Amino acid sequence: MKEMTTDTLVIGGGAAGMAAAVECAERGCRTILVEREEYIGGVLNQCIHNGFGLHVFKEELTGPEYAQLFKSQIRQKGVETRSDLFVVKVDAKRREVVTMGKNGCAIYRPQALIMTTGARERPFNSLRIPGTRPAGIYTAGVAQRFVNLHNRLPGERAFVLGSGDIGLIMARRLTLEGMTVLGVAELMPHPGGLARNISQCLHDFNIPLYLSTSVVEVHGRERLEGITLAKFDPVTLQRLPGTDETIACDTLILSVGLLPQNELIESFVETDPVNRGVKVDSFMRTTHPWVFAAGNNVGVYDLVDFVTLDGKIAGQSAAKMVHDGFLPEKRVPLARTENISTLIPSLCCLEGNPFTIYFRSKKTMKKARISIGPGLFETIRMGIKPSEMVDIPFTVKHMEKLKQLGLSKIEVSLKEVL
Ligand SMILES: Cc1cc2nc3c(=O)[nH]c(=O)nc-3n(C[C@H](O)[C@H](O)[C@H](O)COP(=O)(O)OP(=O)(O)OC[C@H]3O[C@@H](n4cnc5c(N)ncnc54)[C@H](O)[C@@H]3O)c2cc1C
Repeated sequence: MKEMTTDTLVIGGGAAGMAAAVECAERGCRTILVEREEYIGGVLNQCIHNGFGLHVFKEELTGPEYAQLFKSQIRQKGVETRSDLFVVKVDAKRREVVTMGKNGCAIYRPQALIMTTGARERPFNSLRIPGTRPAGIYTAGVAQRFVNLHNRLPGERAFVLGSGDIGLIMARRLTLEGMTVLGVAELMPHPGGLARNISQCLHDFNIPLYLSTSVVEVHGRERLEGITLAKFDPVTLQRLPGTDETIACDTLILSVGLLPQNELIESFVETDPVNRGVKVDSFMRTTHPWVFAAGNNVGVYDLVDFVTLDGKIAGQSAAKMVHDGFLPEKRVPLARTENISTLIPSLCCLEGNPFTIYFRSKKTMKKARISIGPGLFETIRMGIKPSEMVDIPFTVKHMEKLKQLGLSKIEVSLKEVL
């Protein structure tokens, strides 16, 4: 079996992996980027809509344009890209990464590993919807791939379950390609996607959004023939009797959430029990010393810009570890309070650089008080929504105060101001 040593190995060539690889190579590390698909770029390659890059590039780009800017840097900085190569195993004890490709298996021995394997879509079977299992039911990402990369339409009359951004974008895309999109159903009383996507993808195309509504049965043997919708109580989320309605359609598109993808390392790194991502510190280092992580496998981000920024930190930190041999060890855990779901990072390095705390709220709040501490700092934010991540800069001044206070944990608290 072919064996290779390298300074840094990045698994996954999406936004996080590309940003991390560029930073490593820029700092003189031999960097290998492994991607299972034919091309690097990750999910950006199939997102042909615009809305990417407002923070990082200060302009609105499509996914492929955003990816191209990094692909050029990857080439310029001398990152060695290995695509069509699947990582099948990471052996933590031996520090080995095993890949499988057209030419068989190979073993890589990196000094630092950066995991940027993204997230996968929650599948239909996880929803436990009764009925038959006909053709015509797709996750939104798969439908997007069919349409945008393979020029194939999944059907004629579609209904979308879940109002996450991917579902909203696909409702518009399928309409533009000539399908009839009958509506989008969302179990929660609020939409899951960004406000701009509700407006630009649904309102602009007269596609109805049914809140507190879900699919309770699918019909059809070979091919989907229809679905039954029902209303749900917005507070208890219990199905409301007498509200069932059957709709004829041949396609059901699912946009019901993404799950961080960490099978390769979850046996030896800690994961967050709430968002199921890998726990990282403010250097984007996992709980295993030579393994770093960034992107949707850490937590599902709303904007690619944030993914890129954390990917860069992972790359810089991995390069620092390769050159200096260590990173600061003193770390203080971040703890969420009841209104918070995703929280990144999980640990703050006391001797570290400034970083950003990202979190998602569990509910919509017109005005909210965010307290970091106790006693570090407070800020007020308007218009908090579960679909949009909140980014809070943690500065050098905050770091100094943290040391003075000697806190054993940093509590991140979010409360509605009435
Ligand atoms: C449909 C959709 C629309 C979006 N719209 C917007 C938008 O308008 N604006 C915005 O800012 N953001 C948007 N986002 C969010 C943003 O695009 C993503 O958060 C970001 O691109 C994720 O990057 P990533 O690197 O974490 O993951 P990915 O792009 O998923 O990359 C992970 C990579 O890892 C590879 N991989 C996984 N396992 C292995 C393995 N074992 N071996 C080798 N390779 C492996 C995968 O093939 C993949 O290429 C959207 C996302 C989606 C899905």
